[in-house]
Amino acid sequence: MVSQGRAPEDLTASAMEHKIAEQPSLANGITNGHTNGATNGHTNGHANGTTNGHANGISALPALDASKLTITRADPTARAVPDEATACSGNETICTDHMITATWKAGAGWSTPELKPYGPLSLMPTASVLHYATECFEGLKAYRGHDGALRLFRPDLNAKRMLMSTLRISLPGFEPAELEKLILALMAIDGPKWLPTSRPGSYLYLRPAVIGTQPQLGVQAPKEALLFITASFMPRMDLPVGGMKLHTNPEDMIRAWVGGFGYAKVGANYGPSLLATQEARQRGFGQILWLYGPEGFCTEAGASNFFVVWRTKESEGAKLQLVTAPLDDKLILDGVTRRSVVQLARERLQNELEVVERKYTIDEVLEADREGRLVEAFAAGTAFFVCPVSQIRHRDQDVHIPMIKGESGQYTAKIKGWMSDIMYGNEQHPWGVVVNEEKQ
Ligand SMILES: *Cc1c(COP(=O)(O)O)cnc(C)c1O
Repeated sequence: MVSQGRAPEDLTASAMEHKIAEQPSLANGITNGHTNGATNGHTNGHANGTTNGHANGISALPALDASKLTITRADPTARAVPDEATACSGNETICTDHMITATWKAGAGWSTPELKPYGPLSLMPTASVLHYATECFEGLKAYRGHDGALRLFRPDLNAKRMLMSTLRISLPGFEPAELEKLILALMAIDGPKWLPTSRPGSYLYLRPAVIGTQPQLGVQAPKEALLFITASFMPRMDLPVGGMKLHTNPEDMIRAWVGGFGYAKVGANYGPSLLATQEARQRGFGQILWLYGPEGFCTEAGASNFFVVWRTKESEGAKLQLVTAPLDDKLILDGVTRRSVVQLARERLQNELEVVERKYTIDEVLEADREGRLVEAFAAGTAFFVCPVSQIRHRDQDVHIPMIKGESGQYTAKIKGWMSDIMYGNEQHPWGVVVNEEKQ
C-alpha cells in the first residue's frame, strides 16, 4: 500500500517504504519524523488501525520490547561520580554505571534488552560495522532541573530519527516508543547518582546506537545487529570565548550531497569530514560551515544546524528574518534543536521576525554583511546547544557577526533562554519529559 505510485527508480524511498510496510507499526514513527519538518513531530504513535506488525503474518518475530528489560546492577560504591570539569578533562568519555544492550538476529528477531554494568562490547574482527560502516547513532541529553526533576528533551524525535537512520543502512526496525522507554529506564537508574539534585543545571549525554554485528565479510545487509545505549559526561560547547568561528569547507570537499545520506545520523557521515575540521582548527576556527553546490548553499555548521538572522534589502521590505536551510532536499540533518528553534521562533517571535526555511548562499550572507544587514548567526544542535557564531571565513573574505549582547545576539539569547527554561524545568512544557527516577 505505501509504495503505490513510487517510481521503481526511487530505490531508497521504495526500499524504506517496504521495510515500513513489513512492520506497519513503524509507519507513523518514520513518516512523522521525516516529512513535516518544522511542524509537530509527535502527533500519533498508533493511528492506522492495522498497526500490529505481528497480526498480518509478515513478521511474527519478537520486536524490541522495553517491558522485558532485565536488570543486572553494578556495585554502586565501585565508582564515584567525578565533577564535570574532571570528567571532561581526559581523553576518554566517562560513562555512568550502566548501559543497555539488545541484540537482533534475522531469524530470531530482537532479544530481551538488558541493563547491565557499563563495559566493553565483544565483536568479531569480521563484524559488518567494522568494514561497511553499518552504524547509526543518536545524541540527546538528560537535564537536572532547577526544580529537582530530571528531564529529557523531546526524546520521541530522537527515537524516530534513529529508526529512520537504522533503516537507511539496512539494520533492523523497532518501535521508536520502545527505544524511548529504554532510554528512560537507563536514566531512571543512573540519574539519581550521576546527576544528583545537588547539581541543578547539569546534564548527561545519552548515546543510543545500532551497529551491524554479523561476523561475515561481504557487502550485504547484516543478519545480526546490536543496539546499545550509554550515558556519559560531555563538555559544554555552547559558549566558546568570543563566539564560534566558522571556516567554509575546502573547495574539494563536501559533507553531504543530494541523493546521499546527510539526512541520516550514520557514522559514515562523520569520519570523512574530520580532515577538513582538523585543518580549520589549525587555522583557529572551531567548525566547518558546509556549503553545497556551485552556488555555495549554506547547509550545516560542523555537526549542527546553522541559522542566520538578517534584514532583507530595502527593495524587499527590510524585514527581519531568521533563515535556515530546508529539509526537503534531504541534504541536512533534521535536528531536534533546529525544529525546536523554528517552532519557538514562529510562536514567540512572530511579531518581530519571519522564520524562513529556504536555500540561501554564502554570497547572500556576504552581501548582507557588506550592506550592514547581517544581524546574528548561530549553530544549533544537542552538543553545541544554541551557540553564537561570531565569524565566518570564506576563501579570503571574513564576515564578523555582531554580538550585541556581548557573548551573543539578542534573538540567539532569547531562543536559547526559552529552550534552556524548558530543559531545566523553569518552564513546564510538553517537550520536557520527566524521568521517573528510582528512589535511592
Ligand atoms: C546531530 C546533528 C545535528 C543536530 O541535531 P540535534 O537533534 O539538534 O542534536 C545537526 N547536524 C548534524 C550533521 C548532526 O549530526
